[in-house]
Amino acid sequence: MGIAAEGFEDHPVAIVGGGIAGLTAALAFAERGLPVRIFERAPELHEIGAGLQISPNATRILDRLGVIEALDGRYAIPEAVTIRDAISLKVIAEVRLGAFGQERWGAPYLVAARGALQSALLKRVAQEPLITLTTGAEVSDFDVETDNGIPQLAIRENEGERTVPTRLIVGADGVWSTIRDHGGPEGQTRPIGTVAWRATLAPQEGAAFRRIAPDDRVTTFASPKFHAVAYPLGDGSLNIVIVTSGTLSRTGWVREGDPVLLAKLIDGAHPAIAELAALVPNWTMWPLHIASPNCGWTHPNGLALIGDAAHAMAPFAAQGAAMAIEDSFVLVKLVAENALPEALARYVALRRPRIRRVGLRGGLNQFAWHARGPVAIARNLFLKTRSPEKLAADLDWLYGWQVDESIR
Ligand SMILES: Cc1cc2nc3c(=O)[nH]c(=O)nc-3n(C[C@H](O)[C@H](O)[C@H](O)COP(=O)(O)OP(=O)(O)OC[C@H]3O[C@@H](n4cnc5c(N)ncnc54)[C@H](O)[C@@H]3O)c2cc1C
Repeated sequence: MGIAAEGFEDHPVAIVGGGIAGLTAALAFAERGLPVRIFERAPELHEIGAGLQISPNATRILDRLGVIEALDGRYAIPEAVTIRDAISLKVIAEVRLGAFGQERWGAPYLVAARGALQSALLKRVAQEPLITLTTGAEVSDFDVETDNGIPQLAIRENEGERTVPTRLIVGADGVWSTIRDHGGPEGQTRPIGTVAWRATLAPQEGAAFRRIAPDDRVTTFASPKFHAVAYPLGDGSLNIVIVTSGTLSRTGWVREGDPVLLAKLIDGAHPAIAELAALVPNWTMWPLHIASPNCGWTHPNGLALIGDAAHAMAPFAAQGAAMAIEDSFVLVKLVAENALPEALARYVALRRPRIRRVGLRGGLNQFAWHARGPVAIARNLFLKTRSPEKLAADLDWLYGWQVDESIR
């Protein structure tokens, strides 16, 4: 069935949320010649948040959509991902990236400030006449079972409420999604009892960091009580995230993390890690929540969830944003090439196994990084026998993923 027959021209796609998922999906729809509207609750999209590792499976798509060029060099290409023991600082394992990764997976592994990626996506969105982005527009309700068969959104703006009919609602509204409500009880998110503390270290603190690891790569410091991940952001500064046990009564980024509490939570780490943590003037905290990937992601009348709205995951595989980017691209390709109900059914059938596999990989990383005693010894011995080639090959299914090969 052609796209015109589906009614997309009369009732364009409506994307709820202007995060990484929503903006990528809008660019992918525009690439297919489909008009699309984005409704974003925030009055403005600021350059906020931490750093992001963007693996080749995602940079391949971003490159195709012109986003890598729009980043205008505001990123770094790390030489490797290294895992070190957070107590002894000894190297446990290393996966080569840089030119090796680019060659192996056909696209670069980048690290960038989240704000830099958001700006590049917005720059590209602004260049596309088929995309309309409305900020300060909160989707307060939706209906996929209307009398005329056309789904609709209720949108709350400064001027009041309005109803928007659309052939397809794309729920890209993040971990606390309104659109996920249609997925029933499985759609609830839950805290996992861990908190991510993040900070950016200014370039002048680079010397303190280089006492614990080279600053040209992503380094994970593993310990039974916590793990920390640090990497360069391309402008001389370093992004550092420390994941500890804990809960917060609020959701979203919470400013002013207590450094005394953090020092207690990472007690026992190598003194240079503790000293580095003490140098940070402001820690921001984020309580980790996940959404079961089993909730209903679609409704055949015209609804699909993408990104964290569908399957918010813990960041142990550094793949949440990458999966949001993959979801967007797969969904748009299927919608553009198939009748809508078939496209939505295939979207779920294709994405669910991959999301589950990524979730398992994240769980394995979490287990390995937080191992203690004999399990940690066994982990170290196992990784010692693994050649760099084998460690890279273990990631081919993840980083070497290609959209066209995934849809057959
Ligand atoms: C500490 C940490 C480190 C991470 N590191 C990595 C990493 O290295 N690599 C990686 O790939 N991923 C990483 N992730 C995961 C990644 O950040 C997320 O998966 C990704 O940002 C999800 O994007 P999204 O667009 O789905 O959701 P969001 O970024 O949450 O965007 C949702 C948007 O929807 C808007 N919205 C919400 N409700 C409404 C509504 N009712 N109406 C209108 N608009 C609405 C919000 O304002 C927001 O702009 C990390 C996550 C954390 C917490």
